[in-house]
This record gives sequence, structure tokens and C-alpha cells, in this order.
Amino acid sequence: MSPTFAQLGVPDSICRALDERGITQPFDIQAAAMADAMAGHDICGRAPTGSGKTLAFGIPLVATAVRARPHRPTALVLAPTRELADQIMTELRSFAGGVRVAVVYGGVGYGRQMEALRRGVDILVACPGRLEDLIEQGVVSLAAVEAVVIDEADRMADMGFIPAVRRLLDQTSPDRQTMLFSATLDGDVASLTREYQYKPVRCEVGEETPDVIAADHVFWNVARAERIGVAADAITASGSAIVFCRTRHGCDRLARQLDRAGIATAAIHGGRSQNQRTRALGEFASGRVQALIATDVAARGIHVQGVDAVIHFDAPEDHKAYLHRSGRTARAGQGGVVVSLVLPEQAREMGRMQRQLGLEQPITEVDMAAIAWLRESASHSEPARRSEPDTASRDSDRPRRSSQPRRDSERSGAGHKSRSRRSSRPQRSRNRNRNRRPSAKRAA
Ligand code: ADP
Ligand code: MG
Repeated sequence: MSPTFAQLGVPDSICRALDERGITQPFDIQAAAMADAMAGHDICGRAPTGSGKTLAFGIPLVATAVRARPHRPTALVLAPTRELADQIMTELRSFAGGVRVAVVYGGVGYGRQMEALRRGVDILVACPGRLEDLIEQGVVSLAAVEAVVIDEADRMADMGFIPAVRRLLDQTSPDRQTMLFSATLDGDVASLTREYQYKPVRCEVGEETPDVIAADHVFWNVARAERIGVAADAITASGSAIVFCRTRHGCDRLARQLDRAGIATAAIHGGRSQNQRTRALGEFASGRVQALIATDVAARGIHVQGVDAVIHFDAPEDHKAYLHRSGRTARAGQGGVVVSLVLPEQAREMGRMQRQLGLEQPITEVDMAAIAWLRESASHSEPARRSEPDTASRDSDRPRRSSQPRRDSERSGAGHKSRSRRSSRPQRSRNRNRNRRPSAKRAA
């Protein structure tokens, strides 16, 4: 039995706000990271999609928030996509009380973002590009930032944001707390940890490729000509689905074709405006459309509760993309099915990817019965379920992964009692500031 939020030191006001949303028991990554994060330690967290990383860093950020002066946020959350940034802001605001949370990202006007910064933002959630833009314009300084979260660091790396992340980190307080979360901790992510984290407490939860375990995976042989029909049937059989295409154009075309087949769809990709994307996501989340047609980048970090199926309409680029896509379903311990439509010429490559993933199911003929169990399951029969977290179905038909959190604490001087970041952070000089640009010296 894991400890309660209160036992982990979460303030009453936050416990009450979470309780109102049905969030009563910490998930593994939250139990593993919370106390150290609130004590001001750096955190290096690895956990699968849907494991509750947002609250794992969000609660400590809100609980230890420092009141900010105009234009000078005191805490920063970096996220790779607009959708993810929006979701983090919404989740934080749900329990932030008087702590001011705002979000900045590109593709929308500057007015509201600048106005919020002028009034003062305690916790700023940001995509790297727009944040650098706003810094350049002089409307925000990171010099007072005492706590930084790098969310989905692996995706940041995939999307080429690491240089920007480094430039931004170099502008924050050298004594800041740095929390990094990622589904994998190798490559560029490992170097961020090495250079920018100070004796991080490692919190690792779940298997290295856990998204694969949570869902049911099927692989079907299809001819090109029958692909759309099979996709339509699979969406109908499963209930709700995110369908992945390789290109923006392919997304739009498939959305139209499925619409003609009688399935309500919305498309989400980088070629659409922020408003269009937000609307598409809202329509899908509320259940007004049954299928969201997406490219890889657009779908990353979207959290929509209770997505029944992920359909790989176009083959994923590699096994990592397969995992990222597939992680949109079977979140937070719920069930889900992942369907790959395999064209004859793709069978060999798919076999190779399956071996990398440890998913050696045979590629079979189309078999809708294999996914129909989702329809029969009582917990999946509520049409509006996607609009809010569904705690009831969490312990229903499919068991949660029983992964024990692993914490190998690397910290030396444990035992900080103070909640205040300022007082609990040891003063230290460390190599992560090696890369500080001269121009990044304390802005006014
Ligand atoms: P991750 O960032 O690890 O992919 P999220 O933070 O988006 O996962 O959380 C997934 C979902 O689980 C969200 O809807 C969130 O509100 C919900 N959730 C998180 N923690 C808990 C909890 N302790 N109890 C119930 N639901 C939770
Ligand atoms: Mg997340």
C-alpha cells in the first residue's frame, strides 16, 4: 500500500483539490518522487506514458511556489508541444489555488501571453521556441527561476529542442532545482542530466518499454485498397481511436475518406492552426468525433482519457515511434488495443520492428473480434467518458501494471526538512553552468 498524498507531505489545500477530482492515491512515480521533489532535490524520473508524471512534478512546484514579480517567473516547465503545454497548465491550475500558472507557445498571438507575464506568473509552462522569442523581446527573464521541469525530455531530443533547452537552462538561477522526466534516459537526455542536474534522485518506474505491456497489440495483413475500409471497421469495433498517418496531407485525405464512410473525424497535424488543433482535440475528448487522425509530432503528449485504440494506418518510422504512438491508449491503467495495418511490402520491416519491441505476435488476417472485447467491457460504454478522468474503471477489468518504483538515491546530504527551495538548496558551483553564455548574465 503506497502512502497517501498527505503522508508524502502534500499540503491539505492541494490534497482537497485533488480529492475533488477523484485523485486520492498517488501513482508509483508520484510516491517515488514527491517527498524529494518537495525537499528541493533534483529529480531524474523515468516512467511510461500515462503514469502520472505531471502531478509528480506539478504538486511540488505548486507546493513550493515563490511569488513572482512581473516578467520574472520563479518556476518554469518546458514541454515539447503546445498540446502538452496546455494540458500541463490545465492540470496545474486545477489545484494551484492562488499560485499563478500561465502558458506560452507559438502559433498564437502574443497579446495574452505578454499580458499574463506583465501581471506576473509564478509557474510558467512553455514551449522552447516561443519562450526564447519572448525573452528576446524582453518581456520575460528567467533570472528568478528557482525550479525547472523538463517534461518529455526524450521527445524534446527527438524534436531537436536540446540546444534551446540548454540555452534556456543557462539563463535560470544557478541554484535552481531541476526536475527531468522522460520515457527513456539515454542519449541526449543522459547528457542533460549530467550537465544540468545536481545529484539527482533517480525515480524509475515500470519496464523500459512499458507502453507495450499495457495494451493489446494486433498486426493485420491488409492490401492497400482495403486499408481505409479496415480502418473504419476497426474504429467502429473499438469505440474511439487515434489513427496515425505519416504526412499532413495523408491525415487530411484519410479524415475525408473516413467521414465519407460515416465516421466522424477530426485531424490534427502541424499544418493546422492552433485554434484548429485545440478544437479537434476538444471534439475528440468530448466524444463528438470518434477518431482523431494525427501525425506523430502533433499527437505527442496529448492526454485524452479512455482512448480505446491506436491504429497505425501508415507504418511508424521506427520502434520508438511505435511506442510513442501506441502510448496514446491504455493510459493510467486502462485497457486499449493497438492495431497495425501492414501492407504486403511492409511485412518484413514490421517483423524486424516487432523483434525490437519484443512483440512477436504473428501478422494475421484482419480479425475484428480480436478488438471487440473493448465494446463489451462495461467500463468502455460511457460515451462522454473521454472528457474526464475515469477513476472508476481504473481498477476494473484490466489490472494495472504492478511495477514497483525503483529509487536509487544518489543524493549525499539527505535530510533537508525545509520546504523552501531557497533555504534548502545547497549553494554549489557546478559544471552545468560551464555553458552559460556571457549574455545570459542576470538580466535586470
Ligand atoms: P504522463 O505525463 O506520465 O504521461 P499524466 O500526468 O498525463 O501522465 O497522467 C495521466 C492521467 O492520470 C491524467 O488524466 C491524470 O489526471 C491521471 N492521474 C495522475 N495521477 C493520478 C492519481 N494519483 N490518481 C488518479 N488519476 C491520476
Ligand atoms: Mg506527461
